[in-house]
Amino acid sequence: SASLSQRDPAIQAAIDSELGRQQHEIELIASENIVSAAVMEAQGSVMTNKYAEGYPGKRYYGGCEHVDTAESLAIERACSLFDCSYANVQPHSGAQANQAVFLALIKPGDTFMGMDLSAGGHLTHGSPVNQSGKWFNAVTYGVDPKTHQIDYEALEAQARESKPALIIAGGSAYPRVIDFARFRAIADEVGAYFMVDMAHFAGLVAAGLHPNPLDHAHVVTTTTHKTLRGPRGGMILSRDPDLGKKFNSSVFPGLQGGPLMHVIAAKAVAFGEALQPSFKVYQQAVKENAVVLAETLAAGGLDMVSGGTDTHVMLVDLRPKDVTGKSAEAALGRAGITCNKNSIPFDPASPFVTSGVRLGTPAATTRGFGTEEFKQVGELILRVLDGLASNGEEGNAAVEAAVKEEVMVLTARFPIYS
Ligand code: PLP
Repeated sequence: SASLSQRDPAIQAAIDSELGRQQHEIELIASENIVSAAVMEAQGSVMTNKYAEGYPGKRYYGGCEHVDTAESLAIERACSLFDCSYANVQPHSGAQANQAVFLALIKPGDTFMGMDLSAGGHLTHGSPVNQSGKWFNAVTYGVDPKTHQIDYEALEAQARESKPALIIAGGSAYPRVIDFARFRAIADEVGAYFMVDMAHFAGLVAAGLHPNPLDHAHVVTTTTHKTLRGPRGGMILSRDPDLGKKFNSSVFPGLQGGPLMHVIAAKAVAFGEALQPSFKVYQQAVKENAVVLAETLAAGGLDMVSGGTDTHVMLVDLRPKDVTGKSAEAALGRAGITCNKNSIPFDPASPFVTSGVRLGTPAATTRGFGTEEFKQVGELILRVLDGLASNGEEGNAAVEAAVKEEVMVLTARFPIYS
């Protein structure tokens, strides 16, 4: 019964430091968010002790009645959030949800299409270093060199030529709404399944502020921890009950043993929160804040890949200031602003250096930042980058320290987990 701090002071100290980092830094990593205390309470609950291989009502272990309640609620709430009839809430991560779809729908060696990593796709959509690129014949599509948006005609031509068994839409750094109907028409023409990975924008879909990919896709996968603001994890959704049976078998026993019931309970809590009217207000703010941040950065001389954003995420082309993604990420980090370097389409720099940073508004919007604060954040970013531009790799220490002071004031005005 010893507390964590007594039992394991080293881990307690790491957790305390991480809490401090989250409290005092401005989190702009587009794939992160700040979950509620209720979500954390469910995730840190006794449900972590329970084995529950199988699905609610059909388990391979006894004593599953209470975890069944949690999983059934998670499924019900997911279906009502996304207007579908099938949900599998067991995948441990977004990557595993995608693997489960591959396992259900295609065979090793089959051809599938996904967005290239360098154009904003995700590793699991066919990168050569990922299982999806090693075990399958991945044909990747990019974006138009001028607009940096998906070129649907080129996509159609590529699909006709490569005849994929599966086409994936969605990505990690693509800031625009995707034309799902067009994708489905292309998939139908070549006889492919159509999957959307909505990991990034799922929260916007849940709030009704983004087209619902379930209107067009055979299957939709997502993570639960980005805009959706739940615990880390994955999920598979569909309106086709026969496909649903296949996905259930591919998750368990195809890929996983016991589900993480504490995480599933926390998913249920997060989905319950997302069903509240306040979640729509939050997502509206996420989008408005993204527009303000993008406009502020563009006014300060930076280029926005694709010209802006329709969602929570933007990709900033740093080349007008002649700084790299690597040095920008480091300088902003020293100033208390957390983001990640990111390749831009047709990036002349290596993936370790990059010419861009990816920024997103979900986390800071959760702590209460509005358009005024995001304008200030944009200006702080510009000051740090201008410091880098005039001082080289090591940046301008005085500017970074002054920005960090402002970050401390701003984050203190919008406390989290206090
Ligand atoms: N799909 C997309 C589009 C993502 O952006 C991510 C995560 O960044 C994933 C899948 C993978 O999710 P996870 O990190 O939970 O495996």
